[in-house]
Amino acid sequence: MKVLKFGGTSVGSSENLLKVRDILNNGEKKIVVLSAMSGVTDQLVKLTIGVKNQDITGITQILDRLREKHLDVIATIFDAKETRVALSNHVNVIIEEIKEVTSCDYSEELYSRLVTYGETLLTYIFSNLLTSNGIKNSLLDAKKFMHVDTVENPNINKVSTLLKKEILTQEADIYITQGFVCKNDLGKISHLKRGGSDYTATIIGAALEVEEVQIWTDIDGFHNNDPRYVENTRRIEHLTYNEAAELAYFGAKILHPQTVSPVIIKGIPVLLKNTFNPSAAGTVISGEKRTTGLKAISAKDNITAIKIKSNRMLMAHGYLRRIFEVFDNYQTSIDMITTSEIAISLTIDDDKHLVEIVREIEAYAEVTVEKEHSIICIVGEEVIADNEAHKLFKILNYIPVRMISYGGSNNNISILVDTKDKVNTLKFLNQKLFSYEKEELVI
Ligand code: ASP
Ligand code: MG
Repeated sequence: MKVLKFGGTSVGSSENLLKVRDILNNGEKKIVVLSAMSGVTDQLVKLTIGVKNQDITGITQILDRLREKHLDVIATIFDAKETRVALSNHVNVIIEEIKEVTSCDYSEELYSRLVTYGETLLTYIFSNLLTSNGIKNSLLDAKKFMHVDTVENPNINKVSTLLKKEILTQEADIYITQGFVCKNDLGKISHLKRGGSDYTATIIGAALEVEEVQIWTDIDGFHNNDPRYVENTRRIEHLTYNEAAELAYFGAKILHPQTVSPVIIKGIPVLLKNTFNPSAAGTVISGEKRTTGLKAISAKDNITAIKIKSNRMLMAHGYLRRIFEVFDNYQTSIDMITTSEIAISLTIDDDKHLVEIVREIEAYAEVTVEKEHSIICIVGEEVIADNEAHKLFKILNYIPVRMISYGGSNNNISILVDTKDKVNTLKFLNQKLFSYEKEELVI
């Protein structure tokens, strides 16, 4: 058994849905996780804002757009009139259901219920597409088995028991299910954060101990740098789980940051594939350390740097604990840290409680805050031992680097720069680290 997940662009149009159908149709047993059609979850997020603002006109417009989008797909991909009518009626029923939800008061649960409808709509249509093409399949309701008490640490055994029960009652070779949606510890509808369908796929993969999880997107796998900003990036054939986790966390948009965590213990490989070029090899992510050294660079924006300076830190113990406690109290996680004897610099990406945090720390230290920074992350197992790694420090001649961090793990060197310098930093590092223009090292 394999798990195959298709992202928003892969299922973003009638034409693409037919491509996905063809990829699936190879006689292998599989579970297919689908995300919503591209743009749909964004619209649903807007819908939640409409509910907050009680913007009836806005809500109606969005619902009309969603209805039209899905009805258009049905009209294009189904030949039989009865099927088209039946499916269109069902989509109308779901849209009416969404409308009813929008009349409730705003809450976290209401948000989750609304934003996860894109997956509900699409999996229903797609399962029927397979059926109408004579491909036997079964549609599984993810809300029945994706019970995740804490998003950071899902109980795989619980999902496994529930999912196996569902599968047993609906024998099939191909199962279709919704990504992104889950139920929380209170039994309420929740979600796995934006882009969470990748995570759905690996949670299912771990729960069923499958042989492989495939994530199908619109690019030939991980690249060694961000193709949006840098020319001549190259596909990476293989990454370790650690490398992939670092890259995904530090900005590589291709994967949800938590994707690999459920499959690490079970050693299930994750394969990144391109729906629009299915024969391309993609990127394999596994526990095996095939090569060491520099592999890739990624960048994460919207980083706030906080410098905390105090002479009382000199030779004192317990100082860091006091600082970290403040962040902990506000459930704000810290990404990068560097320290000197009297100062510490750290970064956060969630500045919701920044004002309160700064106020508390200012009681005993001098605090400076700088927003709009980017972490540039240079990744590879044993990256520092790479013969070319030293070249990255040449960046210091051109770009004001705010922080540098290495040693948390052996597979990541992070540097913090002002976001306005991000693209130049990525280009510069690409040229220095991946151009293979060998340079003589003179010491
Ligand atoms: N549809 C959700 C989103 O757009 C989940 C996903 O695509 O993975 O974030
Ligand atoms: Mg995605």
